[in-house]
Amino acid sequence: MPELPEVETIVRDLRPTLIGRTLTNPRLHHTNVLRQVSRARLLRTLARNTVVAVDRRAKHVVIGLDSGHRLVVQPRMTGSLIVHDRRLTREERRYAVLQVSLGGGSQLVYRDMRRLGTIWLLDEKGWRAYSARIGPEPLDPAFDAAAFAQRLSGSRQAIKKAIMDQRRLAGVGNIYANEALFRARIDPSRRADRLTPRDSQALFDAVRSVLGDAVAARGTTIRDYRTGTGQRGSFQGGLEVYGRGGEPCVRCGTGLVTTHTIDGRATTWCWRCQGGPRPARKT
Ligand SMILES: [Zn+2]
Repeated sequence: MPELPEVETIVRDLRPTLIGRTLTNPRLHHTNVLRQVSRARLLRTLARNTVVAVDRRAKHVVIGLDSGHRLVVQPRMTGSLIVHDRRLTREERRYAVLQVSLGGGSQLVYRDMRRLGTIWLLDEKGWRAYSARIGPEPLDPAFDAAAFAQRLSGSRQAIKKAIMDQRRLAGVGNIYANEALFRARIDPSRRADRLTPRDSQALFDAVRSVLGDAVAARGTTIRDYRTGTGQRGSFQGGLEVYGRGGEPCVRCGTGLVTTHTIDGRATTWCWRCQGGPRPARKT
């Protein structure tokens, strides 16, 4: 968290306000979020640079600068990237990590309560090399079911783990992996290389549809995620399995089961609709 839909929402909110703006007076309050860049170089590069692009790659917000640098922010659990056109509240100031003035009284603020997120500054070549190591974008119109099947065919891992592997597929994390597998009616623990062509097609369609629906709903806010304008997402109301362990399956009414044995994360599924190990009867 945030995954593809949340980061896409942040990017769509920030793009129209940031493009063409010149950055001034950058302030960094904590350095432990920095990767591959020193505080001095970050502040020096940002100052008087102009934003030329705001894009998403996997779960990263990628802010392209006139100098060719990319400011890459991955908000992870508790981070948010918001343009404010007012003074920050005391609470907002408290967790601000990076603040950059945009002129006209507005500012871009990266806030992160637990500072689990990361800020990178890469030059053009560094960014291209990094991006090349990430898998294809699932919502890219050029990405198709055959390419998806091919990305999974070499993996003996559980299918849930395989689709969350950013080198195989970009942007899918725990929430949307759970949801997509439910929509496709596939057991999350099945080996990726044992999916039939029909399963693989169903999962491809499910990944795209669940991500598309979540983007349309401006993401899922369980706790800390906020859009680029500071609002909550609304896809939490559309979750069918994630966070619903013990509740009835929306399709068949069977109690949903949660396990942590697949990848250490919470996996919730319906054994009747998706197959997989049937839970021991409670006595
Ligand atoms: Zn069911």
